[in-house]
Amino acid sequence: MPSDDPAQALAAIHAAIDHSARLARREPAEVTLIAVSKTHPADAIEPLLAAGQRVFGENRVQEAEAKWPELRTRWPDVTLHLVGQLQSNKAEDAVALFDAIHSVDRASLITALAKAMDRQGKRPDCFLQVNIGDEPQKGGCAVADLPALLAAARAADLPVAGLMAVPPAEVEPAPYFALLAKLARDHDITGLSMGMSADFETAVTLGATHVRVGSALFGARA
Ligand SMILES: *Cc1c(COP(=O)(O)O)cnc(C)c1O
Repeated sequence: MPSDDPAQALAAIHAAIDHSARLARREPAEVTLIAVSKTHPADAIEPLLAAGQRVFGENRVQEAEAKWPELRTRWPDVTLHLVGQLQSNKAEDAVALFDAIHSVDRASLITALAKAMDRQGKRPDCFLQVNIGDEPQKGGCAVADLPALLAAARAADLPVAGLMAVPPAEVEPAPYFALLAKLARDHDITGLSMGMSADFETAVTLGATHVRVGSALFGARA
């Protein structure tokens, strides 16, 4: 993976998700594959659409605004997930374009998102991003700050769909996935956005409901 044939790469990822889910006595249908198409142009995305993929992820609002409105005229049933960091001044645009936002990580952003949602009458699913390895430069709230962030999100009436994390690079990710799953259980949160190309199978065995897979589907980014 990835193979030259996007449909084949897609089938291989689905097979791997199914296998990992069954190993963990889970239903494969509990896992949503988000195809992360950041940096890839529309003509690289179209073969996956043609192969039946409908859930996509982008990490920049502006890039997504440039690519997706046109693609969506032809594939109106696409759902778009924002997986990258979001600045509060882009909250209005993000709410307009995305069906889910995976990077809700601070009170000021919650305020901006709530305002945008109220104005637009549209409430995308929100995932609270946790800096699960408590790394200095990473997005996400500190593990210790999650209860306060969750309280703020619920008070602002954001639809909290899950937790999201990117574990530290170059170390075994399983303990971090397990910690995120425990935090979700402790707080009665059902969604778990965790697992990327290198580790989505481990994430699925540990309870991921959303895996965010880019390079294994599209090839390496430039
Ligand atoms: C780019 C990105 C992904 C996909 O990464 P791959 O390693 O290419 O699968 C997933 N999640 C986030 C937050 C990303 O920025």
